[in-house]
Amino acid sequence: MIDGVVPFPPEFAARYRARGYWRDRPLRAEFDDVFHTYADRIAVVDGPEQITYRQLDERSTHLARNLVDLGLRAGDRVVVQLPNTAIFVYLYFALQKLGAVPVLALPSHRYREIAHCVSLTDAVACAVPARHRSSRDGDFSFPDMVRRIGKDQERQLLGLVQGSDDPLDDRFVALEELLLRKPDAPEEALASVEIDPDDPAVFLLSGGTTGVPKLIPRSHNDYVFNSRLAVSVCDVSPDDALLLALPIEHNLPLACPGLQGFLLRGARVVLSTSTRPADVFDLVERHRVTHIHLVPSLLIRWLADPGIGSHDLSSLRVLQSGGQRLQPEVRERAGRLIPTAVVQENFGMAEGLLMFVRLDDPDDVRRETCGRPICPDDEVRLVDDDGRDVPPGEVGELCVRGPYTLRGYFRAPEHNTKAFTPDGYYLTGDLMRLHPSGNYVVEGRKKDLINRGGEKISAEEVENLILAHPDVANVACVPVPDEVLGERMCACVVLRPGTELELGELCDFLLAFEIAKHKLPERLEFFDELPLSPIGKVSKKDLVASVTEG
Ligand code: AMP
Repeated sequence: MIDGVVPFPPEFAARYRARGYWRDRPLRAEFDDVFHTYADRIAVVDGPEQITYRQLDERSTHLARNLVDLGLRAGDRVVVQLPNTAIFVYLYFALQKLGAVPVLALPSHRYREIAHCVSLTDAVACAVPARHRSSRDGDFSFPDMVRRIGKDQERQLLGLVQGSDDPLDDRFVALEELLLRKPDAPEEALASVEIDPDDPAVFLLSGGTTGVPKLIPRSHNDYVFNSRLAVSVCDVSPDDALLLALPIEHNLPLACPGLQGFLLRGARVVLSTSTRPADVFDLVERHRVTHIHLVPSLLIRWLADPGIGSHDLSSLRVLQSGGQRLQPEVRERAGRLIPTAVVQENFGMAEGLLMFVRLDDPDDVRRETCGRPICPDDEVRLVDDDGRDVPPGEVGELCVRGPYTLRGYFRAPEHNTKAFTPDGYYLTGDLMRLHPSGNYVVEGRKKDLINRGGEKISAEEVENLILAHPDVANVACVPVPDEVLGERMCACVVLRPGTELELGELCDFLLAFEIAKHKLPERLEFFDELPLSPIGKVSKKDLVASVTEG
């Protein structure tokens, strides 16, 4: 086992095996079966390309052999930060085939986040797009970022680059070229690699509440089970098609049921690098898409688009919404504008536990709740501040352990003592109530983060950076409600005497730390001093009330 991974206690592992949840087969073995069973069916659609399961298998094997030639070995960690294209899918399965472990970052992450992932996991390679061009970001070179990380950390980082037009040096290889290059490593070199199914198949990035982002190891056993079970509650048949417009490195689009779950069923996955309504509607119409994974802010944007009426969206059956609470009026609007589809709310987290509303739940239960756990062995408790179970119907903090919920963040022993109870329950920081139906209702959260359109921002991480500003004496970052994104971040700042600060200036200051842009505050408010709670901590509740009323 990779050092720093917290294993499941043996008695729990034995139970999960005995119940058939864990099959002791690495992810690649499960997908070998899938690739053979559905060989001639379409697995992935990327622009004009329709890729069969056989092609996906062959191309990922080919890529894996070339990666072995480049020196990648079983157990190596590779930070992956790619857009929703077939290259991501080839690479994901190629890494599985050679026993390497993808560390999934987001396309919006920049030097600070990626450097952290590299150093925490001792990564040997980074897979990045060549460039990113946007009016907001200008022209950003990911390979340059990887070069700097390698230099700053004195590592020989291999760069795997997608979509490069420029010639690359010998530590930087175009992924497209690796799909064509004749490999030396024989296929048997892959087959002979032993993979322990209790080892991580993937590292996911936690939404997190701490100063530095945490990594979540998901084992082969738990992650395959996660997708197998998720797809079983989502009414998916082999003729269905899932549209993925959310970044595929997120747990939901990758595995809940996402890419993995739909492939396990022999269905199609249509990839989109765009979330623009016109592009999405066009793909739905063209590929007769049946399922979409989304966050409420995307649904709101799509439903508000005047083009919605001029597309045939009648193939849609399930709009799966997660990451954030779905407002009832958005659900109703969806019902009016896309009458063939039901909205299926799910409550999930990269740490593991998944709740889904079942499609045959009564209407009122589907409207009011975020679902219930997908596995009978998900041990869910709602507890008060002293860790005691609250009576049914009362609000408590959700804590959970189960066959696909982590037992510890990677290489974070100190944080783990706070994030887990001594008997292994993960304290989610979410506040919930048990609904009489047996489903759960989200009532808020205790954890200190901003949920911006489903993307989680740790308040502490941003506060630490703002505190480095010479004019700032104190700061607290809080969520303020937003009609579309659910929440945006407001920085509440106490300035040093005689100084001034503007939002734009503060954002420029933060950008100098090279953080992802979604972490920038969108509002700045000044205070003479920050309100304190009775125990002397900054009262974020009072701050939220004051900035939303003011
Ligand atoms: P992530 O790991 O980024 O998916 O974030 C997980 C967190 O998102 C959960 O702990 C919740 O705080 C929040 N979340 C996920 N799904 C929902 C939902 N349906 N309603 C409200 N909050 C949600």
